[in-house]
Order: sequence, then C-alpha cells, then structure tokens
Amino acid sequence: MKSAPTSAKPVLGEFELIRHYFAAASCAQAGEGVALGIGDDCALLGLPADEQLAISTDTLVAGVHFPDFPDPFLLGQRAVGVSVSDLAAMGATPIGFTLALTLPGVDASWLQAFTRGLDQMAQRCAIRLIGGDTTRGPLSLTLTVFGRVPKGQALTRAGAQVGDLLCVGGELGDAAGALPLVLKQQHTKQAVADALLARYWSPMPQLELGLALRGKASAALDISDGLLADCGHIAAASGVALVIEQAHVPMSAALLAFAGESTARQCALSGGDDYRLAFTLPAQYLPDLQQAGLPVYVIGRVEAGRGVTLLDSHGQSVQLPHSGYQHFGSASD
Ligand code: ADP
Ligand code: MG
Repeated sequence: MKSAPTSAKPVLGEFELIRHYFAAASCAQAGEGVALGIGDDCALLGLPADEQLAISTDTLVAGVHFPDFPDPFLLGQRAVGVSVSDLAAMGATPIGFTLALTLPGVDASWLQAFTRGLDQMAQRCAIRLIGGDTTRGPLSLTLTVFGRVPKGQALTRAGAQVGDLLCVGGELGDAAGALPLVLKQQHTKQAVADALLARYWSPMPQLELGLALRGKASAALDISDGLLADCGHIAAASGVALVIEQAHVPMSAALLAFAGESTARQCALSGGDDYRLAFTLPAQYLPDLQQAGLPVYVIGRVEAGRGVTLLDSHGQSVQLPHSGYQHFGSASD
C-alpha cells in the first residue's frame, strides 16, 4: 500500500492492523494447500499435478452490494459466502482467499466483529485467508478466491445438452425478498425475519452440491443476478434454450408469508443474491443425487433453440419479467 498522508494515518498502523486482526484469525493459519500465508510479498499455494486452479474475484461496495452502515460481523460472513459460492459453482474445493479491504477509518470493535464474521464463514467453507491489501477510503471489499478441481472436471456454463433437466439447489428469492428488512424499511414476525435475513447475510455456498455434480451436471453456475438472467448465461454459453416451469420454482414459506405470492415469485425469478446453484443435468443422474439427500429441484429442461422461456401451469409461455441487476445500463432493456 502507498503511504497515506500523515494526517490520515490510522490510530493503529497498517501493519499492526493486519497482524492483529487478519494474520491472527484462525482462518489465516497455513494449512492444506497453503505453503505460505499472510506476511510475505506473496502467498504460496501448492497444487497437485492433476488439478487445476479455479480463481474468482468479487468486489462488494457499500451502498451498492450492502447497506451503507452494515453490521460488520454479518458483512464479514456475507463477503466470504458470496465469493466462495463461485468455487461451488465450478465444482471446486476451496483453498484460500485474499482480502483487499478499503476502510474509512480504524475502528477496533468494527474490525473485531468483521474478522469474527469473516473467520466463521471461512471456517465453515474450509478456506484460508492467505493475503490481501488494506487501504483507506470509502468502505469496499474485494475478495479473490482460489480453489482446486481435477483437470477437465470443472463445471462450466457451456455444456448444457438438449434433453437435460434444468435444476436449482434450493428455494429462490429469499435474499431479494429480504431487502426491505435489510434496509430496515419493513418489519415482520421474528421467525420470518430471521429466516430471510439469514439468507441475505449468510449465504452458505453449496460446496457439497458442487462437488457431487462433478462428472454429472453438464453446465452450472451460482445464481447471483437472478434465475432468469443467470439461466440466460447458461443458454447463451451452451447454445441451447432453457425452459422454466414457473410453478416448479421453489420458494420458502418465509418468503411467501412475508412478500405474498406475486412478489415472492418476482423475487424468485429475477431477484439477485440467492447464491444457490442452477445446473443442467442428464436425467439419469437425478435419482442418485436425490437419494444422497442433496437439494436438487427440477424446474425445467433444455431444448433446442436459444434464450429462456418461462411457462405457466398450463404450459403457456409467460412474458418475462425484467432480468437481473446490471451495474451499467438498464436491467429492464
Ligand atoms: P506489500 O506492501 O508487499 O504489498 P502489504 O504491506 O500490503 O504488503 O501487506 C503485508 C502482508 O499482509 C502481505 O502478506 C499481505 O498479503 C497481507 N495483508 C495486507 N492486508 C491484508 C488483509 N486485509 N487481509 C489479509 N492479509 C492482508
Ligand atoms: Mg500490498
């Protein structure tokens, strides 16, 4: 990091801050796959010769990806969950992540809570903090995750075949439905609020499902922009059409209770931030996955053609609601 002007120097110096909060976290200790962690110019990762490195970067900006003054513990959890979800979507096993953190100032209790949240989710995902960068400015976080996957077995968006089933890994729409609660614009019964807020703040990456889909799913991704938009990505990359039966898209009781059916469906189809997997699957693999107790919901199928079609319960095509969030340009174009 470049030296900040003396007047802007944090109370705790940059190096003490890194040592005290980040290098000391349980998830920052070297271990499997990490030969050298925080403290040198680079981290060193080891990778068996028959495996490939899976890498993904995500930036979270205050006021864009989370509210301006978030609970730091929840922010730490969410940042790791969201980032590791990309490894799950590739069928990769987590190794490590870096954290580039921009902070408006040094607040010990904020940093402590943030690191606890980060550590908790990192441990649940068995991923290690291996380095990063710490700078001063408006709050934002960039996490880069590293995972490993046997050569040629990563789940990409490009392999969907006509005749495959289209599946998702769980109920959709909770995170988008939770937004009025996240922004404290609405309130509801504690149990309902807890369920929805947990899905927004602590999205648990579907790592186990991703691993189980290796060698089975023909295409996969994690739903971050909304089901319809993300299915559009699989359709485009695979050169096929995806047909979704609206009535089969799973929604939680909490979302239905809070938002009502029509808004719940809108959230499930177009809301972002679900971080569940969507994948295409040759039908022969379905029974084994279901018997293994994995969350696999069939919501449609792959057909010849292009784009995404939504069908109502009579098999009639439904006008698509606006697609997922885009940072540049209008989402409803
Ligand atoms: P350099 O000047 O060589 O870029 P830094 O002073 O930025 O190194 O960082 C020192 C060490 O601390 C490096 O190993 C770096 O990866 C790590 N580090 C810096 N910030 C963070 C952070 N927010 N989280 C984890 N590790 C960090
Ligand atoms: Mg640096």
